[in-house]
Amino acid sequence: MSRIHSLHSPQPHARLAKHAQRFQELKRGLDQLEYFCKGTVLKRMTKCGKAYCACASDPTKRHGPYFELTYKVDAKTVNVRLSPEAAPLYQAASLQFRQLKVLLVRLEKLSQTILRLQAKLAQSRHPD
Ligand SMILES: [Zn+2]
Repeated sequence: MSRIHSLHSPQPHARLAKHAQRFQELKRGLDQLEYFCKGTVLKRMTKCGKAYCACASDPTKRHGPYFELTYKVDAKTVNVRLSPEAAPLYQAASLQFRQLKVLLVRLEKLSQTILRLQAKLAQSRHPD
């Protein structure tokens, strides 16, 4: 009885169509994607280490800013010095990567939902 009901119920199909549409919408976000890179851009003010330099005692007299791209490779942190001109480019790229990861998580979750529904529908078409 319940099997017959599920065969004739339009609900799983309607839900599947809705999820499929959402998947297509999310996928369009990939077309908006610009160049991306992993890691974070850090802005540093540093002390040069010379005892007679103003930076030694006054935090506002520190040198910089210096920019670094920092990311992990095999659990090791890698720092790459960036020029002031490069910094905003890498900052934007790193933001793109974060957005890409959020998008991937959403696409993956939605895929799981869709796959479960598809599997259920396929099962109800071939009952044994
Ligand atoms: Zn100094």
